[in-house]
Amino acid sequence: MRSSRSWLSTCIAIAVVLTACTPADRDHHHELLAFGTYVSVSFYSVTDEKNQEALAGLETLFGEIDENWYPWAPGELQRINNAIAAGETIAVSRRLQTLILAATDYEKLSRGRFNAGLGQLTELWHFHDLANPPATLPDASELAALLHAAPALDSLSWHRGELTGRNRAVMIDLGGIAKGAILKDCTDLLRTIGIDNAIINIGGDLVVIGQVGERAARVGIRSPLPDTPVASLEIADGEAVMTSGSYERFVEIAGTRYAHILDPRTGFPVEHTVSVTAVSDDPERADAAATALMVGGADEFDDLVETLQLEYALLIDAGGDIRLTPGMRERLKWLDAP
Ligand code: ADP
Ligand code: MG
Repeated sequence: MRSSRSWLSTCIAIAVVLTACTPADRDHHHELLAFGTYVSVSFYSVTDEKNQEALAGLETLFGEIDENWYPWAPGELQRINNAIAAGETIAVSRRLQTLILAATDYEKLSRGRFNAGLGQLTELWHFHDLANPPATLPDASELAALLHAAPALDSLSWHRGELTGRNRAVMIDLGGIAKGAILKDCTDLLRTIGIDNAIINIGGDLVVIGQVGERAARVGIRSPLPDTPVASLEIADGEAVMTSGSYERFVEIAGTRYAHILDPRTGFPVEHTVSVTAVSDDPERADAAATALMVGGADEFDDLVETLQLEYALLIDAGGDIRLTPGMRERLKWLDAP
């Protein structure tokens, strides 16, 4: 396990925090260390036996993901990236195949705002190694060369589970969709085991299975400007709530903060938007869409929620203005009228 390194941000961002469940509701609650962060797991109304089985299942799942989805340590994704860089063909496991294909779909649906082929750009900005921030901005000619090479997942070709890259500048970085994929896999696993009521929460990004006691789970939405609770909403069985933010995970270079969400068109971090929260019964869609909407910003909000088929989204821009889809507007309960 890579517990020393945080490869998923733990941004509780415009933090989505649980507000509905009292400790008495929680039959079993666990904090698991995985992906260099804490994953909080609550099972409601389950036997000790089921609790143990589910916990062991999640630990195994997290171990496999930790081992294979991180591009900056040995494991399957690094082998895939090495093959792409060398222009070689490589066989890919079923799960990474479906995940990379999903990321490719979201790249297309978002017109490249979501681009999981940008690992080299993440590296140039040092977002993969926040403990050692660079002293200067990325070298302009290196940045220009990378943009010119235009790495994107649409350059990958597949044949019977084997992948061949046609653009050696592609380095797959699943950071923008991984938490959604993990929450999807958790949901599938827990439902198979027979867990009917649970919440899995990775630093504020969460999925709800069933409900909490007699009630639907309720999450609070916080605004980061300043950090205050603004609204709450009920989350139905199977829904995920994913937040992307530009203020929690960043590098500081020469006194300026640069956030970890990158605009593939400019190679620069997003500044115009501070956070996006997306809700969907498909956690991967919610995660990828939240990242894409961060990049597109308020100007592209209406277009992108439509092409990404996202009914529930909320965006807060750098000026503190809020954009909502009609569906989200209906569901939110404001603490104060906006
Ligand atoms: P958060 O980590 O705040 O929940 P995201 O889900 O948006 O936010 O994930 C951010 C991560 O996604 C970055 O650390 C990087 O690995 C990757 N990433 C950055 N920019 C993009 C982009 N334009 N498209 C896809 N992935 C991105
Ligand atoms: Mg995301």
